[in-house]
Amino acid sequence: NNEEAAAKAAAVNADSGAPTIFDKIINKEIPSSIVYEDGKVLAFRDINPQAPVHVLVIPKFRDGLTDLGKADGRHEEILGQLLHAAKIVAEKEGILDGFRVVINSGPSACQSVYHLHLHVLGGRQMNWPPG
Ligand code: C5P
Repeated sequence: NNEEAAAKAAAVNADSGAPTIFDKIINKEIPSSIVYEDGKVLAFRDINPQAPVHVLVIPKFRDGLTDLGKADGRHEEILGQLLHAAKIVAEKEGILDGFRVVINSGPSACQSVYHLHLHVLGGRQMNWPPG
């Protein structure tokens, strides 16, 4: 409806970065293997998995969150929802005994897609320190 469209347009206008491939995944313009989805969050399998389970959890409305380094107070709720979704994914994937959640933020962390995403990794022994 109009109200939803206006909210979506406002969210897009509030955004600073260019669209990414994840917008196409959210809009189902390109297929993905979805593990979990609700009104705010989408979780889908990484195309280049680094562990037997490798799922990306993203906000459906980026709202300026190109990377975690851009987070501010207005993002508190969605940040909590993303972390909760990561737990739901771990539960669904049967890796609650041990899993890792990673956020690469910025060039020095090798972030490659500028739409905030949590990596949920598991299904093998995860070593420390990470690279
Ligand atoms: O944290 P970083 O930005 O490097 O992670 C981006 C992730 O998105 C990569 O793990 C990459 O494999 C994944 N990706 C994907 N599907 C795409 C493009 C990237 O799963 N179409």
